[in-house]
Amino acid sequence: MTRPTILTGDRTTGPLHIGHYAGSLANRLRYQDSHEQFLLLADTQALTDNAHDPEKVRRSVIEVALDYLAVGIDPARSTICLQSHLPALAELSMLYLNFVTVARLERNPTIKDEIRARGFGRDIPAGFLCYPAAQAADITAFKATIVPVGEDQAPLIEQSNEIVRRINATAGRAVLPEARAVIPKAGRLPGVDGKAKMSKSGGNAIALSASPDEIRRAVRAMFTDPDHLRVEDPGRVEGNVVFTYLDAFDPDQEGLAALKAQYRRGGLGDGKIKARLEAILQELVAPIRDRRAKLAEDRAYIFDVIREGTQRARERTEATKRDVVSALGLFEL
Ligand code: ATP
Ligand code: MG
Repeated sequence: MTRPTILTGDRTTGPLHIGHYAGSLANRLRYQDSHEQFLLLADTQALTDNAHDPEKVRRSVIEVALDYLAVGIDPARSTICLQSHLPALAELSMLYLNFVTVARLERNPTIKDEIRARGFGRDIPAGFLCYPAAQAADITAFKATIVPVGEDQAPLIEQSNEIVRRINATAGRAVLPEARAVIPKAGRLPGVDGKAKMSKSGGNAIALSASPDEIRRAVRAMFTDPDHLRVEDPGRVEGNVVFTYLDAFDPDQEGLAALKAQYRRGGLGDGKIKARLEAILQELVAPIRDRRAKLAEDRAYIFDVIREGTQRARERTEATKRDVVSALGLFEL
């Protein structure tokens, strides 16, 4: 029986954070045996809004690969590969751009939000506007049928499927499969500053490689309920970042429910809930940080993992490119 193919990935814009852990890495560990899984180090996509800082994009390739291995991604069971070294992805992207209109790209809700968030105004890098077509190339080149993404990314999968339908219609047969977006139950983790999303580029993340001191400081500075001034005051749990993190990471959810009740009634100080959260995060991150530090000593091994994974991915993506070219009846030499 063939296992369904999953494509996931991360932009190489910095080390991964506990939001990635809750939202996607934990699932990826689960998929390793039941699915054929490709993890894309998306350095080309990282450049679409980081062209001014190629050094960060380059450096982060190793950072993200280290994070994968440190959390337990096994390169023998999952394929870790590098986007910029898979030429078929770039070639398919160019081809797909002819199957989508500029108006459709501009209407994509994910792109609209991201353009606003990045403050591009009218100066949108063309590569950024077109990245949904590149993402369609990533997904289809692996013939992935399952793509785990955050809720806000679902319109990208829809756009990819539209391109797939157009290509299949032109080819007169289903050369490419459509993909299904799988949205993790965990939802997205807010930033330590209370902003809607923890992100590598937002400066509001706790990295999986954070030191004990960084974790301590991040939890101390965390946003709670601004009206909860004295211990005896009733406090708000909703929108309180400390409780949102406890929801995501506390293994004792029953104890947590009791704590929430007490906080709502009044009589529970922020210091207590922060201490509980800090202990949980220290325990979560410590083994990852230790494994990561050991792995980081052997750069040759990390390079080998990326090189071998990319080689495996190259065979797969080149085969798809040949399928598409031949299905469309383009010139072949
Ligand atoms: P950047 O700030 O450079 O965009 P990022 O932190 O948003 O980085 P991405 O590489 O864009 O990370 O996202 C990779 C994957 O991780 C996506 O599937 C995304 O939905 C998920 N993800 C990112 N941030 C969070 C978060 N705060 N909570 C849960 N999942 C997240
Ligand atoms: Mg992002």
